[in-house]
Amino acid sequence: MATVVLVTGGTGLVGRAIEHIINTEPENSRFGRKSNETWIFTGSSHADLRDPEQTRKLFEKFNPTHVIHLAALVGGLYKNMKYKLRFLRDNIHINDNVLHTSYLTNVTKVVSCLSTCVFPDKVTYPLDERKIHAGPPHESNFGYAYAKRLVDVQNHAYKAEFGCNFTSAIPTNIFGPNDNFDLDDSHVIPGLIHKCYLAKKNNTPFVVSGTGKPLRQFIYSYDLAKLFIWVLREYDDVEPVTLCVGENEEVTIREVADAIVKSMGFQGEYLFDATLSDGQFRKPASNEKLLKLIGGFEFTPFDQALDSTVKWFINYYDEART
Ligand code: NDP
Repeated sequence: MATVVLVTGGTGLVGRAIEHIINTEPENSRFGRKSNETWIFTGSSHADLRDPEQTRKLFEKFNPTHVIHLAALVGGLYKNMKYKLRFLRDNIHINDNVLHTSYLTNVTKVVSCLSTCVFPDKVTYPLDERKIHAGPPHESNFGYAYAKRLVDVQNHAYKAEFGCNFTSAIPTNIFGPNDNFDLDDSHVIPGLIHKCYLAKKNNTPFVVSGTGKPLRQFIYSYDLAKLFIWVLREYDDVEPVTLCVGENEEVTIREVADAIVKSMGFQGEYLFDATLSDGQFRKPASNEKLLKLIGGFEFTPFDQALDSTVKWFINYYDEART
């Protein structure tokens, strides 16, 4: 049977990574394109998914049998703090339109994207799939967090009432080519890559915010792309599954900055501004469920993935989101 996979948010960091993997892995391999599959990657220029009518037309045009739903209003801490209502409403509308249109058009399966940032603020670590609703999210991003959590609630409701095969995946911090490298509104890795690039270009110091001591669990977008393809094809449970490297593979911000300096070939002054906030010290997530189900997965070593991302940024500086 012909399979049409629609990837919403297909023009972003994760969407582009899935497109890369589908087009470069051997055909009919575990993560490569199957001969009966058509993949469609859409961004907001194809349809504003906040709007039900545009969403309906998008589905009518492509007639998907499967959906990977990545589209979301996303942003760094400052943007999340400033636009709580916008994060809540835009994401509720996007998610509701995608899920309900999928239901109305008999889509066989939908995999939506949650995030470990939507977990409770006060929680025991490591995070795992069962703790997502176990308390209020952090005050700074409650709009985004509650909208994302509702996807899991909706998935259960669509299953209970109509038997739909809708599920979700929970990644930790993601990085890779095509990320948002904006200096004011990016995540830590793309932000530091851009800062270091400018420090080298302008012969100025490379200043990293905070002490460099906090630990983070990053996943390379190309690895995450393979895991999303696995979820779409092989994971059929409504309960979310966390997609991340192991808890013992956390890296410090200092290690991240060191790797960027090395990869960029930066030889100027390099320092940490400990007067700036470090954020949470660590927030590890468990990939026990993932590894048990997938039966082994080789993650790209962090330094290698970071080096590829830095090289991509240098090569595509003019096209990158800066
Ligand atoms: P990006 O910002 O790189 O991409 C966002 C995508 O969503 C783009 O394709 C964008 O389209 C699309 N989009 C945004 N608003 C709309 C809209 N109103 N209608 C249609 N499309 C829209 O995000 P990421 O790739 O980083 O994120 C993908 C998913 O992963 C999101 O659900 C996010 O919450 C989740 N996530 C991300 C993490 C990270 O570290 N980046 C961590 C954990 C989860 P266009 O380009 O045309 O604007």
